[in-house]
Amino acid sequence: MEISRYSAYSDIELDKAEGEQIEALKLRAQEPIPDPDEWLDIEMPSNAIILSTVDALLNWARRSSLWPSICFPACCAFELIAANASRFDLSRFGMEILRASPRQADVMITAGTLTWKMAPQVRRIYDQMAEPKWVIAMGACGISGGIFRSSYNVVPGYNRIVPVDIYVPGCPPRPEALIYGIRMLHNKISKAHIVSPAKKTIEKREELP
Ligand code: SF4
Repeated sequence: MEISRYSAYSDIELDKAEGEQIEALKLRAQEPIPDPDEWLDIEMPSNAIILSTVDALLNWARRSSLWPSICFPACCAFELIAANASRFDLSRFGMEILRASPRQADVMITAGTLTWKMAPQVRRIYDQMAEPKWVIAMGACGISGGIFRSSYNVVPGYNRIVPVDIYVPGCPPRPEALIYGIRMLHNKISKAHIVSPAKKTIEKREELP
């Protein structure tokens, strides 16, 4: 019984018609609608097997769930925050959770100028992150110290402190640039092997006390 047939009738009659429609729907909904996809019925009897490699599976999982550690000492941080917000939405890449604990993080995005006074703390955060881990140097300051490079107290690039995987230039780089760098990191992770993981770009330095 169609509700539209009652359009000339009172509210009570409309409610009654709506109730009848819902009850009819409930009766029809006792059984689930059959799945029209027949591919499973066809594939399973022929013992179809999907082939992949452990490397591909593991790399897919790792690049799809990069969790950044919190290391935002200066103004590039606002572009990182913008990248996390709704317009750019880093959660598309499974990395919207910024971890307060380095033990739960596997990527460091160095969003800001680093001073020598802060350097031991940044190195300690990196040392405490779980393996495998990666570093994105974000912004001119992250790459080379930027406009503060000649200052006595500024580290001329995070790669003096931690091994950097990806460099994202700009002062500051826009969220699009950061996302491009993240996609480059995804590509790098895709090429890693479990047996012989990619070597880091600088030698492992002694852990800080
Ligand atoms: S690169 Fe520019 S925006 Fe980024 S921390 Fe340095 S001065 Fe600030």
